[in-house]
Amino acid sequence: MIQVLSPEIANQIAAGEVVERPASVVKELVENAIDAGATHIEVRIHGGGTELIQVADNGSGMSEDDAIKCFLRHATSKITSIEDLFSIQSFGFRGEALAAISSVSDFEIITKTQTDPGLSLKVDAGRITEKTPSSANRGTTISVRQLFHNTPARLGYLKTDETEYRQVLKEVQAFALSRPDISFQLFKEDKCTLDLPKADQPFIRVKQILKTDQGELVPLEGQNQTTQITGFVSSPGNYSANKNHQYIFVNGRKIEDHRLAYAAREAYVQSCGIEKHLYPLFVLFIQIDPIMVDVNVHPRKLEVKFSDPGEMFGLVKSSVIQAVQISNNKYQRSDSPLSRGTSHNVGQGVSQAPKFSSAQVHKFNQQLFDQPSFRDRNFGRNTNSQVPECSSFQVENQPGGLIFLAQVDQKYIIATNPKGDLFIFEQHALHERQRFDRFMEEYENKAITVQPLLIPEEIKLSDDELSLIGEYQKDIEALGFEFKKTPPNKGEESQSDSGGLILIAVPQLLQNTDFTQIFQDFIEYFQNHEVGENIIERLLRKRLEYKACRGSVMFGDSLTPEEGQQLLNDVEKSRWRDLCPHGRPHHVQFNAEEIGKWFHR
Ligand code: ADP
Ligand code: MG
Repeated sequence: MIQVLSPEIANQIAAGEVVERPASVVKELVENAIDAGATHIEVRIHGGGTELIQVADNGSGMSEDDAIKCFLRHATSKITSIEDLFSIQSFGFRGEALAAISSVSDFEIITKTQTDPGLSLKVDAGRITEKTPSSANRGTTISVRQLFHNTPARLGYLKTDETEYRQVLKEVQAFALSRPDISFQLFKEDKCTLDLPKADQPFIRVKQILKTDQGELVPLEGQNQTTQITGFVSSPGNYSANKNHQYIFVNGRKIEDHRLAYAAREAYVQSCGIEKHLYPLFVLFIQIDPIMVDVNVHPRKLEVKFSDPGEMFGLVKSSVIQAVQISNNKYQRSDSPLSRGTSHNVGQGVSQAPKFSSAQVHKFNQQLFDQPSFRDRNFGRNTNSQVPECSSFQVENQPGGLIFLAQVDQKYIIATNPKGDLFIFEQHALHERQRFDRFMEEYENKAITVQPLLIPEEIKLSDDELSLIGEYQKDIEALGFEFKKTPPNKGEESQSDSGGLILIAVPQLLQNTDFTQIFQDFIEYFQNHEVGENIIERLLRKRLEYKACRGSVMFGDSLTPEEGQQLLNDVEKSRWRDLCPHGRPHHVQFNAEEIGKWFHR
């Protein structure tokens, strides 16, 4: 027998979609506070949110009429027609949150507008049980007690109080990031755990929440006809082991979009490099014409749908690449305001590396090793109580740049510069970066040399694979491959031979590689191709990384001083001076001042 469910049960069922855990209640209540124009918001949590969630704001407040209606289902002041959805400026529009929350908790509203007298309402299972006048200030305080007391199954899904609290914290932090103009406070069992006064600059808020220093994040800006992106992203090499510090906001709304997060990370893969297990930090504010985005595709509005996801992907990626590049350029200029802290920095003066004759280098090393030993100098033998100058090598004539001192354990190059900074380079990573940049430059300058193969190479492919390759033939040829497709050979044998292609010429850059493997890689990429991705470039990049790695000085190769110096001279030529193509750092630096401090000088 079919029955129409009572409104209470219907609300409780609907609550399952909106209210998953205390953090989702906090999200809905803070959204309402922001929609009401609040400039200060306080969130209080007891027992991980199961005892009490309270959100107090100094926003517009509600009249008595509105307060009585606000927890009814589909009661909203924010839209009146479906068209409104496509020009929506507020967080809310479904009119569901308060109905849902009040159906699964003991619910109380205290509210007051500028002009009306204040009132307090208690609501139980959608019915008002108590209405009293209140002498509150303008604004609204909503208290949610005993969450899920009447839906025990939900309670069972909750994690520990601490975990639930941490989710609440993350939620509040996300709001705070997007609204630096609002002050936020979070209390846990009456103890203030987050206190964010209003910030004049978005970066101040970002710094408060991501706990990063200037230089670890760099500003970002990008736009096209319909969209503007601003925000902050990791500078090269400042990555995290998890994705906890990645925020994307679309028209102020925090969203989860793994494709856009992927696009942002790809920007690092394809510029300065990032290790496989690391993730960039980013806070992206996307402002987009509301008509270009559907916010009504997820009950908790965690996801949105862009009318052109590929375009969005490309814009995020290119904006991040640009931000990272600008930071790299600034950072390579010695007067960079963004130049980084002390211990990871090829800074001042590297830009004009000196050219040493091998005789000079040799002489320098002689002098270094002829010095009295550290012990001799410091403990007695030397009558002069002052420690002598370490070296008489004439560096003053050198305009700046890195000077090879020694190789350690056939792995690391120790270097200095005229300022007396000390550098330790990882020789393989350094060489790999230099080779890779050279290959990339050749490719970008389209200085691609096509090398005909002496013996054309046959690559067997299935029909599907062959047609995929056919689809992308132009792109593949642009890389410097020439090939002919061979149709399947339906011979006399019972089993017909599958088709494939005959490779006639290959890009010189990729000489001596396994071409069957390359074409297999092509196919794999074409099959799972990422939206907005230039697969061919990505693939070429991977190949070049591999090639750069294979031909480089190895970890464990011994170097002559001349070879070592040559590697250092080439540092200035590499585009990304910090990281190897895979994103590992290739050197550390100790600034002269810092070294002085070690010895209390
Ligand atoms: P929605 O936000 O989708 O409109 P809600 O159920 O969250 O739906 O809220 C219902 C209505 O209650 C809102 O449209 C708004 O008019 C009113 N309201 C809720 N919270 C507040 C608040 N903190 N201050 C002022 N008005 C509020
Ligand atoms: Mg709402």
